[in-house]
Amino acid sequence: MRILTALLLATVLLVPAPTTSAAAPDHPQLDPDRPAVVEKRVIGRSVRGRPIRAWRLGDGSGPTVLLISTMHGDEPHTRRILQSLRDGRPIRGIDLWVLPTYNPDGLVRHTRKNARGVDLNRNFPWRWADLDGPYESGPRPRSEPETRAVIRFLRDVRPRWILSFHQPLHAVDTDTKDRRFSRRVARALDLPRRALTCGGVCHGTMTGWYNHRFRGAALTVEYGARPPRRRMEKTAPRQVLSIWGATRHR
Ligand SMILES: [Zn+2]
Repeated sequence: MRILTALLLATVLLVPAPTTSAAAPDHPQLDPDRPAVVEKRVIGRSVRGRPIRAWRLGDGSGPTVLLISTMHGDEPHTRRILQSLRDGRPIRGIDLWVLPTYNPDGLVRHTRKNARGVDLNRNFPWRWADLDGPYESGPRPRSEPETRAVIRFLRDVRPRWILSFHQPLHAVDTDTKDRRFSRRVARALDLPRRALTCGGVCHGTMTGWYNHRFRGAALTVEYGARPPRRRMEKTAPRQVLSIWGATRHR
């Protein structure tokens, strides 16, 4: 009997306490310097082996949202919006993922494309076409490790909403899945609305692929060539959270 009790006790002690995917407010912080972060992941690696990182913020309540920046390495300014959210105060009312540097090799080289000369926003399997020149689409759909990493990540997280930040067209796309979402984002971010049609048909884009394969809506947001630093670090992060009524702790 005593052995049985000991065994039962051992079982109870060995079974880990149930965990929730969302961090409770008193959850031990992952990183004392980044109190907003509740999870971090390396979702894959670039052609040159650089890690592609995603951070999860928020208290787990509200919709799952993903912000993506620097898919094109020569469009680096909007990273500051994502970094400011990641490095700031804890966030509530949203389950928010940020992926500030989709194309780390392109960022280092200041090039639109990845290290193999592929435009990552033409490499997705939906309406992929064999494009050359500035929109080189790669030898086949999902040929690039960066594309495969993001596809895996999106299939796992399945955000309800995605904002894909680019430059320099200064507009929110209206040629998209959910027009009301597009209007709401344009109003919140104080950007004009315009059909971003890739000069005709968009082939192999991430937003096109996501919008046709998943329930959620992905939207392209373009800032200008040189958005003021204050707008990226202070104004835009607050505006982004306001789209979903989320806030930062004071
Ligand atoms: Zn771009």
